[in-house]
Amino acid sequence: TIAPETLSFEADVARLLHMMVHSVYSDRDVFLRELISNAADACEKLRYEAITRPELLADGKALCITVTADAERKRLTIEDNGIGMSREDLVEALGTIARSGTRAFMERIEAAKAGEGAELIGQFGVGFYSAFMVAEKVEVFSRAAGGEGSWRWSSDGKGAYEIGQALSDETPARGTRVVLHLMDDAENYAQSYTLEKLIKEQSGHVAVPVYLVEKPGGEARQIADGTALWTRSKGEIKSEEYTEFYRGISGDFDEPAAIVHYRAEGRQEYSALAYVPGSRPFDLFDPDRTGRFRLYVRRVFITDEADILPRYLRFVRGLVDSADLPLNLSREMIQESPLLAAIRKGVTNRILGDLEKLAENDGDAFIKIWESFGVVLKEGIYEDWERKEQLLKLARFHSTAGDEWRSLSDYTGAMKVGQKAIYYISGDDRARLEASPQLEGFRARGVEVLLLTDPVDSFWVTSVSEFEGKTFKSVTQGGSDLPDIPLTDNTEDKVEEETSGEVNAFISFIKSTLGDAVSDVRASDRLTESAVCLVAPDHGPDRQIERLLSAAGR
Ligand code: ADP
Ligand code: MG
Repeated sequence: TIAPETLSFEADVARLLHMMVHSVYSDRDVFLRELISNAADACEKLRYEAITRPELLADGKALCITVTADAERKRLTIEDNGIGMSREDLVEALGTIARSGTRAFMERIEAAKAGEGAELIGQFGVGFYSAFMVAEKVEVFSRAAGGEGSWRWSSDGKGAYEIGQALSDETPARGTRVVLHLMDDAENYAQSYTLEKLIKEQSGHVAVPVYLVEKPGGEARQIADGTALWTRSKGEIKSEEYTEFYRGISGDFDEPAAIVHYRAEGRQEYSALAYVPGSRPFDLFDPDRTGRFRLYVRRVFITDEADILPRYLRFVRGLVDSADLPLNLSREMIQESPLLAAIRKGVTNRILGDLEKLAENDGDAFIKIWESFGVVLKEGIYEDWERKEQLLKLARFHSTAGDEWRSLSDYTGAMKVGQKAIYYISGDDRARLEASPQLEGFRARGVEVLLLTDPVDSFWVTSVSEFEGKTFKSVTQGGSDLPDIPLTDNTEDKVEEETSGEVNAFISFIKSTLGDAVSDVRASDRLTESAVCLVAPDHGPDRQIERLLSAAGR
C-alpha cells in the first residue's frame, strides 16, 4: 500500500472553513441536510449513469442512504451507495472550490449577522464543509462506481487534509461513507431521536429512501421512503410538505411565496412543481447562476441546465418530470427536442397564468412577489415578444398617483379626457423624480406619470409600442398632448401668451445665447412653477437613456 499524503486546502477553502466554524454557528442542524442531499445527488447521478452503463447497478442493491448514530463513540455516519468518488474526485470536490459564487459567498458571510450564515450555506452550494460546524474530524471513505480502488480522505478542517488508500472493510462496496467525529458540544447529533426528527423535517422528500441505524446493535429503520413529492396528487400534500421540499431543492429557508404544481396530460405528459421564493436570492443578477430548474425523466434526475424556464423567470425554483422524453438525452436533444420545447412553453404559460390569477385574487401576495422579482420579470417584456402583453398586464409601477402600486390598466382607467399617451419619467431615484420640474404641467392637469426607477425600465419602455392602444411617452420628450387636457384647478390657461411677441423675443434671445448647446427652445405647458427645464427631442433617446449611454461611454 501507498502511504497517505497530506495536502493543503486551497486558500479559499481554508478561509471558508474558518468562517464556517466561527460565524455560522447558530443553526448547525443544516449540516445534516447538506450531507444527505449530497448522498441523494450521488445516488441520482448513478441512476443516470446506469442508463447507459447498466453494469454499474449490477449488484441489484437498491439505491439508498443510511445514517448511523453511535452515541457511545460520538460518531455520526452518512453512507450512500451512489456514484462514489475516485482519488481525483475527492481532491477536486473536497479540497478546492471551483465555484464562481464562492468569493461572493465569503464576502456575504463576513458581513452577515449571526444566524444569517446558515441560510447562506445552502444557497451557495458549499454544503460539504458545513460538516465542520459539528465535527472535529471528518473522514470520507469512497469507492467510485465502476472504478478501481477505495480511498480515505480525512481532515480536522484546519488547513490540510490527508488522502490515501482505504482498507476495503472501511469502505462501502460502492459509494461514499462520511464519518463525523462529533465535537463535545455536538454530541446530540449522535442521538437517534434527534436525527430522526431532523431527517424527517429537512430531508423527508429526497428521491432516495433514507434509513437510520442506532449503534450498537440497532436495526435499520426507514425514515423517509424516497417517493418523489411531485408524483403525489396535490390534494394529499400538506403545505408543510411543500415547504420542506422547497427548502430541500432551493437551499433557502424562507416560505415559498407561490407554488405551482400540476400534471399535464394529453400530447405531452409531465408533472411540474414550481416555487416562487419568498425573498430575493443573493445571486439573482449573477449570470453564472441562472436557471436551476430541474429536468427529470420518469423520476430520474437528468440535468438542471435544460433552460426549462426563460431567463426572466430565473428566480423560480422547481422541476419538471417528463413521462415521454428518452432517458439518454444528449445536449443537442435538450436544445432541439420539440417535446421539451412544448414542455418549456407549457410550464412558462402556466406559471405566468398562475401569477395572473394570484394578482386578481390576492393582490397583496402578488405585490410581495412583484417587489422581490418585478425587476427580473420586466426583462421579459422585451425578451419574450410572445408574452409581452401578458407581462405588461402583470407589471406594477409607482406613479404620481400615490403610494399604491399601479397596473397599466389602473393607469389607462384613470386617463384624462384628451390624454393620448401613457406618461413616464425615468431615473434612479424615486424621490428625485417626484421633485422634477418636468412633472409640474402634468400635476396641474391631474395627469398620472409612471415613475420608472429600475435600469431595465429604459429598455422595455422604448421597445414596447403600446398598451391597450396607448403609446408610452417620456415626460422629458417634447410634443406632449398637454394643451388638450384642461388644468384641474380651473385657472385660466395662459397658452395664448406663448405666441405673444414678448415671449417670442425672449425665446430668440435664449437661442442666440445658448447657440449649438440646444437644438430648440420652446414655450411649453409642462411647467407651472419652475421657469425652465431641459427636455429631449420628440424623436430619439429620452433623458434617462442619454444618461445611461453616456455613462457607458458612448
Ligand atoms: P454541491 O453539493 O453544491 O456540489 P457540496 O459542498 O455539498 O457542494 O459538495 C461538493 C462536491 O463533493 C459535490 O459536488 C460532489 O461532487 C462531491 N460529493 C460530496 N458528497 C458526495 C457523496 N456522498 N458522493 C459523491 N460525491 C460527493
Ligand atoms: Mg451539496
